[in-house]
Amino acid sequence: MTAPITTLSDRDLELLSAFHGHLCPMVLVGARLGRVASTRLAGLAESLDPPFAFFRGGGCAVDGVQMTTGCTWGNSNLLLLRGKDLSLTLTREGSARAIVAAPLPQVLQDARQVKGAVMDSPFSAWIMEGSVEELFSVEPVTGPADLSRYPEE
Ligand SMILES: [Zn+2]
Repeated sequence: MTAPITTLSDRDLELLSAFHGHLCPMVLVGARLGRVASTRLAGLAESLDPPFAFFRGGGCAVDGVQMTTGCTWGNSNLLLLRGKDLSLTLTREGSARAIVAAPLPQVLQDARQVKGAVMDSPFSAWIMEGSVEELFSVEPVTGPADLSRYPEE
């Protein structure tokens, strides 16, 4: 068995550029964040139900998350939460288990420093191929029923 792929490919970048309209630091961060969380969620292997995402934050990152998790505004498997911090909780419908992932502070700080074409920057290579541990906090959680988009009445 090969190790799960948690990085972004050239094909991912093509899709991301077409979907988001441009490549920028935060769409890359969101895409890699979504890829990492999806891979970890698949490792839980408890359900074949489609994933469901809660994303806290806004802006370009959410498009990256949509592309790599398959949880989109259009398919109603994405719930956007208010907040200035940026985090992704990825679960499956009806599951009380989830992956909570967020960029580490250094990632967000460096994203703000990128000047010029993002794909020519060392930042893009770091986000695309850097180790998960140096980029994100990723934790499996066992949560309350409010992980469901349909809270109990
Ligand atoms: Zn953008």
